[in-house]
Amino acid sequence: MLCEAASQLAIKVVILDPMENCPASNLCHYHMVGSYDDSATVEEFAKRCGVLTVEIEHVDAATLEKLEQQGVDCQPKASTIRIIQDKYLQKVHFSRHAIPLTKFVQIEDLESAKKAGEIFGYPLMIKSKRLAYDGRGNAVAKTEDEISQAVNALGGYARGLYVEKWAPFVKELSVIVARGRDNTVLCYPVVETIHRENICHIVKSPADVSWKTMKLATDVAYKAVSSLEGAGVFAVELFLTSDGQVLLNEVAPRPHNSGHQTIECCFTSQYEQHLRAVVGLPLGDPSMKTPASIMYNILGEDEGEQGFVIANKLIGRALNIPGATVHWYDKPEMRKQRKMGHVTLVGPSMGIVEARLKSMLGEEIEDDQ
Ligand code: ATP
Ligand code: MG
Ligand code: MG
Repeated sequence: MLCEAASQLAIKVVILDPMENCPASNLCHYHMVGSYDDSATVEEFAKRCGVLTVEIEHVDAATLEKLEQQGVDCQPKASTIRIIQDKYLQKVHFSRHAIPLTKFVQIEDLESAKKAGEIFGYPLMIKSKRLAYDGRGNAVAKTEDEISQAVNALGGYARGLYVEKWAPFVKELSVIVARGRDNTVLCYPVVETIHRENICHIVKSPADVSWKTMKLATDVAYKAVSSLEGAGVFAVELFLTSDGQVLLNEVAPRPHNSGHQTIECCFTSQYEQHLRAVVGLPLGDPSMKTPASIMYNILGEDEGEQGFVIANKLIGRALNIPGATVHWYDKPEMRKQRKMGHVTLVGPSMGIVEARLKSMLGEEIEDDQ
């Protein structure tokens, strides 16, 4: 999606991805096949770029730091990637900057985990510090007896774990924040994200929350991003609690799933905005050009062929719905719960967009509003 936006602005994109037939390989100017976690490869890749940016944070941050010292232009800065790629370090960083968070502590063994459980209570959220995405580094212990099982599911204490106090949220919110090279900061409208088994599934834009909550969420997101260095778009994932508090969950230093809908519903998509930001063009208007939108992730329902059959049915229905845009990523393999594509629905009100979502899911006779 970054490559699609780049082509409209005549920006040439060179990508580094280990997968020969990765989705962006057909859309980019040049695809270097290799690991973004390998120092020599990243150094070689950097030679081909005017500006180096990321759309995944699990890259070799130490090499980016070294390259920056040699004058390579990384946006956002390597320091930002280093902080964010370790979720525990990220929490320490944001707590030092007085950003509201749930309580957290690192754990090294069963004893420290039990102690955390006594202090935080249950359910206890256990998280892997690094290489986490789509909830794959998270495990919940409902009681003290479940700690060992949850820790084992994450690969053991040696993987580097920490725990978070359970956030009793009523809604999950997200704000995409863009910062240009001239330090201009613009925030997208607050959206609501709905997760299925820890995986982002639905995004509603704008979120159905009070103006006070919108302002608070935007302020927390703005403050969080202000504590990080470099240009680009950042996604700030938030929890809204029943007493109106907004707590930060985590930040992504790149375009994010909670901003997919901006392609259709905002004047400037998060992808175009990221490119504008990192190459030093003026930022675009992040406001909505349609009154309401819902983004629906197409998650793999089954392995292999059967998964494609199910996804195709959904896409077939989507193509008949007004205001629906299908994005199929053409990932080479279908896996259960894998993000295979998404559909964005836009319309004149959230009620109408919700009805369109239902008919896309085959839950109702299609309306023709
Ligand atoms: P992403 O794909 O967004 O990077 P991730 O693997 O980094 O996901 P998190 O964002 O830490 O995972 O958590 C995924 C989801 O799990 C959250 O969106 C939320 O629904 C739930 N969750 C995470 N932390 C907590 C918590 N402390 N209390 C309650 N629920 C939580
Ligand atoms: Mg994450
Ligand atoms: Mg997350």
